Amino acid sequence: MTGPAPVILVAATPTPNGDLHLGHLAGPYLAADIYARRLRAAGREVRYVSCTDDSQTYVVSTAARLGVTPARLTAESTAAIENSLRIMGISMAPLPPVDDRYRRAVLDFVTALHRAGRFRLRTVRLPYDEAAGRYLYDGLVGGSCPTCLAGSSGGVCEDCGHPNNYDELLDARPTGGLGPATVREARILVLPMEEYRQRLVDYFDDHPDWRPHPAQLIRELLAGPLPDIPITVPGDWGIEAPFPETPGQRLYPWIEAMPASMYATWWAGAESEQTGPVDAAWRAEAGAELVYFHGFDNTYHWGLMDLVLLMAHGDRYVLPTANVCNEFYELAGAKFSTSRGHLMRADELLAEVPRDLVRFYLTLTAPEHQRSDFTVDRLREVCRQRLVEPWHVLADALELATLTGALPTDGPLPVTADGRRRAAAITERFAGCYRLPGFSIARAAETIAGQLARLAAAVEADGLTGDLLAQLRALLAGAAPILIDAAEAAQAAGWELSTAPAAELVPVPLPRLGRPASEPVHLTEVLP
Ligand SMILES: [Zn+2]
Repeated sequence: MTGPAPVILVAATPTPNGDLHLGHLAGPYLAADIYARRLRAAGREVRYVSCTDDSQTYVVSTAARLGVTPARLTAESTAAIENSLRIMGISMAPLPPVDDRYRRAVLDFVTALHRAGRFRLRTVRLPYDEAAGRYLYDGLVGGSCPTCLAGSSGGVCEDCGHPNNYDELLDARPTGGLGPATVREARILVLPMEEYRQRLVDYFDDHPDWRPHPAQLIRELLAGPLPDIPITVPGDWGIEAPFPETPGQRLYPWIEAMPASMYATWWAGAESEQTGPVDAAWRAEAGAELVYFHGFDNTYHWGLMDLVLLMAHGDRYVLPTANVCNEFYELAGAKFSTSRGHLMRADELLAEVPRDLVRFYLTLTAPEHQRSDFTVDRLREVCRQRLVEPWHVLADALELATLTGALPTDGPLPVTADGRRRAAAITERFAGCYRLPGFSIARAAETIAGQLARLAAAVEADGLTGDLLAQLRALLAGAAPILIDAAEAAQAAGWELSTAPAAELVPVPLPRLGRPASEPVHLTEVLP
């Protein structure tokens, strides 16, 4: 008898045209990490994966702007992304190499659809750069969104989330080039999304628990004609399309996300699994639970396009049980922007502020339902008031009790029925935050702050009791997926991060939260 199938968590595949910044990390990567840690603590096997999206044209346009080769840009960016994930404590499997095995996985995925007759040959009109002699799409073209009129790249609008395909972008011009783009025709292969309308409608009927903003976008998209998904493009970057109808063309980069995610899942598996088919864990019969984490601007891709690409394989693959979708995180009132240098990277911030404080603040202010704003000053102030000060009141009380023998007994403290009831209430509040579909890391961080304040006040009023220890233990267990270093230190100090009811508990020291050198030490005097 085998246990339940692993849970596969996929965070949006990062484009290796630069490092991840705090805006990315506070979005899908931290949310999926917290969900993964919570599931693992409950004994579930989790594969938390992603894969760099090397075929994106943003690699080409950024490399041109920086004056480096795309190969050098992807190599350096991938190393930087891996480092940022690691230092933030994001418990994702290592990013898999984008090599011949990767390309084989992508080609197997699309050639199966080609063999099954899912693609159609279409003549489309594409923006064209006459000076450079190339067709323009995605990161190669800028203009105005035909839906909301905001400035937009090709492919999808970051502001309203609507796709723009082919020649739909208004005022199209080559990225970094001069003058307007012209328009030329091209014969490409497409996958008509309209042919999957009924399956999409049925799927969204069965999965109604999207957050309101992406749910609205999905309703808007389903209300109109659904686009033809480009399968091939007349470009010179990315994987060569192997189809006789489109000689010399490349695969459209966005269609790689599903086979890339399967490949990353396979790569994260045991060595024995890596001898088997790359898509084995994603087959319907494997029974895996699949959850995506991505930003609002990826709703069309991860919510519809990738779903249709899975559906086009018939019933071969599992479909996602949920998409956890975040909004933009802003820096001091404006969008993070790599090209304008308006950004903050994880290593810059972690050089100044301990990791648990960064994770707490990013979690507390995570842009789950609307854009939220980051400043270092606000991080310092909120962490000091809502995390560090109450935490150290509790740490001081335990230090006194355990080191100075201030307690009347050096044995366990009894936990009353009321203490057990209160501990169970804390545990249930956290469970509600971490459970899909209502999953909310911001509410989990809010729960940490609220319970810390309450317990700090209680220990100042009544001293250390078994009931307080039981509640603090429940709080530490609930906070563990967010405050990862404190949780590890607490376990090392002798805390059992369990939510099981206890009749008595032995006081053990509560490790201090890391404190940046620039922040004054706060120690509450608790001696009489
Ligand atoms: Zn728009």
